[in-house]
Amino acid sequence: MKAMVLNRITNLRENDSPLELTDIPKPLPGSKDLLVKVSACGVCHTELDEIEGRTPPTFFPIVLGHQVVGHIEEIGSKVNRFKVGERVGIAWIHAACGTCSHCREGNDNLCERFEASGRDAHGGYAEYTTISEDYAFPIPNIFTDLEAAPLLCAGTIGYRSLRLANMKDGDTLGLVGFGASAHLVLQMARHKYPNSKIFAFARSEGERVFACELGAFWAGDIDETPPEKLNCAIDTTPVWKPIVETLKNLAPGGRLVINAIRKEDIDKEQLLKIDYVTHLWHEREIKSVANVARQDVSEFLELAATIPIRPEVQAFRLEDANKALLELKTSKIRGAKVLAMQ
Ligand SMILES: [Zn+2]
Ligand SMILES: [Zn+2]
Repeated sequence: MKAMVLNRITNLRENDSPLELTDIPKPLPGSKDLLVKVSACGVCHTELDEIEGRTPPTFFPIVLGHQVVGHIEEIGSKVNRFKVGERVGIAWIHAACGTCSHCREGNDNLCERFEASGRDAHGGYAEYTTISEDYAFPIPNIFTDLEAAPLLCAGTIGYRSLRLANMKDGDTLGLVGFGASAHLVLQMARHKYPNSKIFAFARSEGERVFACELGAFWAGDIDETPPEKLNCAIDTTPVWKPIVETLKNLAPGGRLVINAIRKEDIDKEQLLKIDYVTHLWHEREIKSVANVARQDVSEFLELAATIPIRPEVQAFRLEDANKALLELKTSKIRGAKVLAMQ
């Protein structure tokens, strides 16, 4: 089968084609696994973190990709939740131990033995992939394959971030960075908290316009001061300056949720600008979001179908995965990028 394969860690600034189109054997499903013929796979910022080694894959060569939609072509002998021909999604959570206290409490995202799709197991930048039936999710009918793909990470982790933001209807919400995840969070937040004003912060004019089209109350650059203090904020940027800028905009008791698997080190010195009174005093909080739990994926897919959320999608051929990744790196974002097979 055709796959876009990562052979080693590399720096995208020096190497603009980190993935190589390769013919590799079609995977064989284990007894609890589904063999999925991939039709769409979302392209995520976390893939840049994997390629550049901030969250390195556990083996090479590896097939990346953790927002996978496809149809089941074959099932293992012990599979009982799914049938051949059904459409399923695969998310970042690929496996967890299932028995530790985190797993038992529904926080399998925090499990010590957490495994990620496309990092600790082959993912969806390929014609086929496998997944245990326990970590596969039915996709609501109203979404096309391409629309469903970005819901599986950008949407799901956005859902978890919004949950962790501890928001009440009427609270102000800041979305710092306006890419694939934030454009879905905005739609979710407007549905769940109709009386809340949403403030979007983005470097590019295009992203700011897009945020306003989707119903943001205000949009400005990362270092602009919004007209109101923020009760909650969700940061989806890969760097540190937005953290410092956002803390200063938080209302007393406000909470900043950092939705990023890893941050880049390029502007770490910005953190030295943190002043206790300006940025932290008045019980302002910072919380990170780690991975996604299975519960987040299923709850979010249901919510997304109810709202319904309409992901804005830009399709690329599997062979053009490097181009999609590079555009993501250089912030040419409007909505979400998805690889479409065939
Ligand atoms: Zn992702
Ligand atoms: Zn566990």
